[in-house]
Amino acid sequence: MKIISNCPLCEEHSLHVIGDEGTMQTQQCINCGYATSDKFVGTREDNEVYKTLPEEMQSWSKEENGRIWIPSMITLPFGTLYPVNIDNMVNHKKEMKWGFAEMVDILEEEQENYPDGNGGYFKQRYDTDNQKIFDEFLYAMAEMNERAKANGPSEVSRIE
Ligand SMILES: [Zn+2]
Repeated sequence: MKIISNCPLCEEHSLHVIGDEGTMQTQQCINCGYATSDKFVGTREDNEVYKTLPEEMQSWSKEENGRIWIPSMITLPFGTLYPVNIDNMVNHKKEMKWGFAEMVDILEEEQENYPDGNGGYFKQRYDTDNQKIFDEFLYAMAEMNERAKANGPSEVSRIE
């Protein structure tokens, strides 16, 4: 089952609800980029899965509708979209933005710097040194969709 509902965080009609409640249902907003699932039912105080999240992810999380919401990460063969803290030049506070990094080939002579943990080396990596930063998830998604078209048919709607 897949329905589109109003997002409790940004209030846009862009919340994709996939699966039935109680069976690993996922709720993903394609406007603000926040997502939740059955394992995030509860509060920051009592949810065990929340406590295992990296500190940065915890700091970005929100509580709404009896659930914890966290920013989405999307990983595809040609690129990845993720939340990232960026320093605000004006008030010097960190702000969450959305990063997009393309998958690039690693030069053969540089592969030794990227061990894959199985005795070999990675041949490709996400180029986060040249990440593109977006204020809004929606625009980052649009960028990703453009790349998807350029890279042939792919399942961009698959959110992890
Ligand atoms: Zn939203």
